[in-house]
Amino acid sequence: MTNNMPEVANRRKQLLEQEQRLKTRMSKIRHKIAVISGKGGVGKSTVTVNLAVAFTMHGHANSVGILDADIHGPSVPKILGLTGQRLQAGPPGVFPALSSLGIKVVSMDFLLLDENSAVIWRGPLKMTAIRQFLSDIVWGDLDFLFIDLPPGTGDEPLSIAQLLPEMDGVVIVTIPSEVSQIVVRKSVTFARKLGMPVIGIIENMSGFVCPKCGAKIDIFMSGGGQKIAKELNVPFLGSIPIDQKVCEDSDRGVPFIVEHADSQASKAFMEIVKKIEAFLKSREKQSNTKMEVK
Ligand code: ADP
Repeated sequence: MTNNMPEVANRRKQLLEQEQRLKTRMSKIRHKIAVISGKGGVGKSTVTVNLAVAFTMHGHANSVGILDADIHGPSVPKILGLTGQRLQAGPPGVFPALSSLGIKVVSMDFLLLDENSAVIWRGPLKMTAIRQFLSDIVWGDLDFLFIDLPPGTGDEPLSIAQLLPEMDGVVIVTIPSEVSQIVVRKSVTFARKLGMPVIGIIENMSGFVCPKCGAKIDIFMSGGGQKIAKELNVPFLGSIPIDQKVCEDSDRGVPFIVEHADSQASKAFMEIVKKIEAFLKSREKQSNTKMEVK
């Protein structure tokens, strides 16, 4: 039998050092917000990217980052026009890719051979990757880190909840249909069980206004997000309509709130941003009061 005690001790030391690095790096980021959804394809990544852009444009230039923690289906680089980028390493660690708007981005996509490559990993490996994204990336001083998580309540959201207990909270994206509302319940239960504040629910793909005749068609119905928010006693942040331009802009790698600032979808989105700002302000006030009481 070989004595593997030194190896175990060494590994333990490495993990402790990594944990310390994670704490140091994350302490330089003021707000951390995760974007989650019960189901895929509801517009979670689109919302994450546009949230990051909105905050960049409103007083936080060069102070916003996105961690694309969707290990199996990373799509943030595509929406920001960063496909094909690679992460560069230097003595302090690995540097995030930089979007044209100055947003720092880290995604599994930057580590894959090409866009057809697939990550075939089980839970522990995904946890390791996410831990490294938080501890070994040179994020620097940021006002915001948005974390785009894969749909559901699997390994990645669990890892983030465990590694970032100080997180401000989660934004839940849904579409109005009843099938989606059911899974929103699971997302809220998940967040509550893990002690992550629910900032609120966004109803995306909420109705479609025909550009030719102006008639509103509720393709996936509408009002479901509001209904479920009320039922679960969590804030409702707003509804974003279906807009062909949202899809086109994302495919071209330009955020829709920049390209089509006057569209109804962008205006709805900016109202949501104001509500998130209000949530963060009231949270800061609460924690300042707690500190004063201490
Ligand atoms: P998820 O991250 O939930 O899987 P995505 O953000 O990748 O979803 O969006 C899925 C698709 O829907 C993308 O093609 C995106 O451009 C499109 N999309 C998202 N929101 C809207 C919207 N409000 N109107 C039109 N298309 C949208």
